[in-house]
Order: sequence, then C-alpha cells, then structure tokens
Amino acid sequence: MQTAITHATIHTGTQILDNHIIIVENGRIKAIEPIDNFGHENKRTIDMAGKHIAAGFIDTHINGGEKYYFTQHPTEETIQDIYESSLALGTTHVLPCLITSPLDNILKGIEATRNFMQKNPDSGVLGMHLEGPFLNLAKRGAHLAAYVRKPTNSELEEIIKYGKDVIKIMTIAAENFTDEQIDLLLANGIRLSLGHSNATYKQAQHAYRKGISLCTHLYNAMTQMGHREPGVVGATFDNADVYAPIIVDGFHCDFAAARIAYKIKKDKLFLISDALFVGDKVTHFQWEEFDAYLKDGQYRNSEGNLAGAAISMADGVRNTVQKVGISTEEAIKMATIRAAKAVGMEQTIGQIAEGFPAKFVVFDETLSHFEPLLVQ
Ligand SMILES: [Zn+2]
Repeated sequence: MQTAITHATIHTGTQILDNHIIIVENGRIKAIEPIDNFGHENKRTIDMAGKHIAAGFIDTHINGGEKYYFTQHPTEETIQDIYESSLALGTTHVLPCLITSPLDNILKGIEATRNFMQKNPDSGVLGMHLEGPFLNLAKRGAHLAAYVRKPTNSELEEIIKYGKDVIKIMTIAAENFTDEQIDLLLANGIRLSLGHSNATYKQAQHAYRKGISLCTHLYNAMTQMGHREPGVVGATFDNADVYAPIIVDGFHCDFAAARIAYKIKKDKLFLISDALFVGDKVTHFQWEEFDAYLKDGQYRNSEGNLAGAAISMADGVRNTVQKVGISTEEAIKMATIRAAKAVGMEQTIGQIAEGFPAKFVVFDETLSHFEPLLVQ
C-alpha cells in the first residue's frame, strides 16, 4: 500500500516545492509529484496541513542519549538510547561519538555499534565517530589527558582491523601523524577529520592536501586564525572543499562567528549537536575525572570549561535561523544534505528524492517544534 503525504511545503534538499505530494512505498520515497496528478485510489493519505517537511536531520557528532554516555557505556543499549532520543527531536540519522579512552574501550564501542547495526539494519545508526585518542594534548578540551596519546602503527592497525566498516569519521590531530599513518587510515575507508589540533596553518594545509576532508567542531579545540599564523581555522577557511561542522548553541562560538564562517565556507558548513546528552535529563555527569554540570543550557565541568553541548540538531537549526540570520531553507540543508555530503552519504540519505528513506522531520514556520515522521 502506498502512502501520500499531502499539503506540505517540501524541502527536498535541493529546492522547496509547494503543491506537490510525496508518495511512499515500503519505507522508501517512490515519487514526488505535482498535486494535479494526484489520484487518491489505493493510497493512505497523511495530510500535513501546511507544515514543512524535510529529510530527517543527520547528526555526525553526538556523545550520549537521554541516559547514557557512549564512552562511559560503550554498549548497544547506549546506541539505542542515542538513536531514540535523537529521533524524537527529528534527527533520523546519527553517528554516535566515542571519545579518547583506552583501546579496549574503543574496541567495545566498535563492537556495540556493529552489533546494533546488524540487528537494526533499518535504523538511522550510520556507524560511529571516533574522536581521539590521538589528539594534541594542548587542545584536548574535555578529553582526559591520561588517555590522549601518540599514534603507534600497532594501535592504528588494531583500530582499523576492528573498526574498518564501522568508523565513519575519526578525529585526529594530524600534526602528530606520519604521512604513512594518514595514508593507511584513508586507504581503509576511514574518513579523517582534523580536530583537537594544535597544527600551524602549514601543517593543517598539509593535512588537507593529504586527503583529510573535514574538520571537527570548527573553532573549538583548534588553532585560531591569527593574522601572522592562520592556524587550523585559517586553513579550513582557505580550502573551499573542506567541510566544517559547527555547534550553533551560542556558547561554543559566538553567533557572529558562525555567520562569518557561513560567508566563507558557504555550502561546506553544516550543523552538529556535539550533545553530551539529549533532552536535558542528565544534569550532573561523572566519568572518571571528566565531570559536567548542566546549567543555563550548557554543560560545564567543575573548572568552568565547556564539556560538550546541550542542544539538539533542531535547536541548532532554530538558532541558525533566529540568531545567526541564515534562511530556513539553508539551515535545513545544513542539517541534512550537507551533513550527508560531508560523510559521503548523499546518495542514500539527506534528501527527499526517489529511492531515499521515508524518514522525515516536520516543523512549522515558527521552528518551535520539530518532530519525526517515519512512513512505512
Ligand atoms: Zn571535541
């Protein structure tokens, strides 16, 4: 049985369509047709009553769900928690992020992600983001210093062996890697992201030339753009092809800095939540020496430093429109198709187009409320 989604403003990812309907069959988009061609026969109808609809949001950087923090509990239960709590707010696809920790913990996270994906092939869990452990101590942020380390070939080989098809992004401080180590990771299909890096502009340029295709949370935990030493931020601005995810919560960077980044990076800037937890239910968190307290919409540790974000992708979209001043059409693209492109998945997710999953987010002009719509 087919389903027709009617009376919506459709953000396809490439354009906005009014007076069109989306036809869904077996969980996939079968067609987008002008309303004039619409025949009601043999179709279930979902009337959107003038609301907006887009492909569900894609979050390539999320650390925890409503209850569990992935690095502390690298289990299938946590993946489920991250997926379900994100989904409730319109994020249909996620890359749970595991941060700097001992090798056995990383391998547990890989195993949990792999098992979850095998048992739930139609879920929106795309793999995982491994953020660390090979970071620069000087830019470790909230990562535990005891576990930040230099890459050895044997540990890299171990991570590749177990994580090859599961790790979709790995954040590295490229200045601590040899060219051969970077080549090895890239050759095994692991997308590399430059982050928690103290690289000079020259080192960052070299990393991008080697094939590193994105950075990790633009502006945060990286060398800033000085006029004599443009740093990682400068190199990211200087390479038109490099993707840059940004946390638009107003705390990780000023809204004006997000606006400036958008002017420079254009369609390569995209949104992440980098949420520590989803839904503000966890107000105090402790994992070894890493602690965080939720206050005024921010997670900070006992030293007062930011310890991960407390926004959802939906909050990021709303802030991008209402605080940064970017159009709704563009903000939606920043949370969907551009995130998909950044991880090389634009042929399968992030758009309302024929053959794509019927996993949507629905909202109205006020952007006050976002909800998922999954159609079978
Ligand atoms: Zn980080």
